[in-house]
Amino acid sequence: MRFLITAGPTREPIDPVRYISNRSSGKMGYAIAEAAIETGHEVVLISGPVGVDRPRGAAVISVSTSDQMLEAVQRHVRNCDILVMCAAVADYKPAKVSKNKIKKRSENVSLELVPTRDILSSLPKDRQYLVVGFAAETENVEANAQKKLREKNCDIVVANDVSHADSGMESDQNEVEILFRDGETKTISRASKKIISRDLVKYFENYFEKRLTKKIE
Ligand code: C5P
Repeated sequence: MRFLITAGPTREPIDPVRYISNRSSGKMGYAIAEAAIETGHEVVLISGPVGVDRPRGAAVISVSTSDQMLEAVQRHVRNCDILVMCAAVADYKPAKVSKNKIKKRSENVSLELVPTRDILSSLPKDRQYLVVGFAAETENVEANAQKKLREKNCDIVVANDVSHADSGMESDQNEVEILFRDGETKTISRASKKIISRDLVKYFENYFEKRLTKKIE
């Protein structure tokens, strides 16, 4: 199978030296890329700025902003069998990017933010490839993930609770719940992102096969 995987955060510039970003380390997306390569799949990895070593055998496309990530996904998605949107794409970006460094002043400053374009929601409804979204939640994990599955028209959503400091974002550990469009759910209990990724790749392969044999829509 041909995997297209996004990983890491995006950076939304405020001025030439400042940006808005998030704590995503890219570890989960990179671990999925490695697990897919180990299993013999082809991997294109679209990565935001991270400090993780490149997975050997993946074609890596480096991006910085959410707009660049959207463009890279739209360019490569037609040639994949499965898109895994693991990246923590910024939900907002500054309304204006200042050309020059904003000077420090003594008064308060406010920054107007506008929503970024949603990559998952930009994908066509009738498509051949499988779409996997991620949901990093701090509360009502399953309900929010179900909502994301429907609203963003995903085939699978992988949800994790990022409210604990020792799992999820930045950590080497995770525990996830997997929601499938056909209503099935699976849980992978706490383990390293490497082990979780191997299981995830198996679930993705099985669901892809199931769809090919028309057992699901
Ligand atoms: O809505 P939220 O950001 O929580 O959704 C997370 C999922 O949506 C992830 O799979 C993420 O990669 C994707 N996403 C996206 N485009 C955005 C923001 C998030 O595709 N602008």
